[in-house]
Amino acid sequence: DGKIMNFSEHIRVIADFPKEGISYKDITTLLKEGGVYRAAVNEMVERIKPWKPDVIVGPEARGFLLGAPVAYALGIGFVPVRKPGKLPSQTISETYALEYGSDTLEVHADAIHSGERIVIVDDLLATGGTMSATANLITKIGAEVAGMGFLIELTFLKGRQKLVDYPIFSLVEYQ
Ligand code: IMP
Repeated sequence: DGKIMNFSEHIRVIADFPKEGISYKDITTLLKEGGVYRAAVNEMVERIKPWKPDVIVGPEARGFLLGAPVAYALGIGFVPVRKPGKLPSQTISETYALEYGSDTLEVHADAIHSGERIVIVDDLLATGGTMSATANLITKIGAEVAGMGFLIELTFLKGRQKLVDYPIFSLVEYQ
């Protein structure tokens, strides 16, 4: 407690996964260490508190692993953003371009309300595609994206350039 943790020591880097040339950041090793997982969530909570969110939103699947405990700690709700066809009630969707093809994300239409302050939490910021689509879902509903928090940021992919409208933090940067 009170001690600064070197979270990067607990992240495993796997070369050429899921395909050649990609240096994959594996957070399962960090999640497995109870004290480190808790310290990472606590650090995110401290940074998010000043943004005074009403709700935490997290994209599947690793956004759940960090976003849900952050919401629990703050005593506020957690809203999942999912791939198409997973959410049972009426949804709002947003399609975004990938390097090859496109992807779609959905949120329950009644889960977020106009005027609410939303903070989005995910494990990793890469190109920012996932985050800009998630932010668009929220702003379509008329809610406000009060900030975005990540465990990891791949700064060389310049995701922040897609997200200039929002305050952002990350706990670990890879240059
Ligand atoms: P973006 O949309 O390009 O910013 O990619 C971010 C999304 O891809 C996040 O939801 C991550 O979970 C996932 N992702 C991209 N690269 C990695 C990685 O190296 N490790 C784990 N997840 C990754």
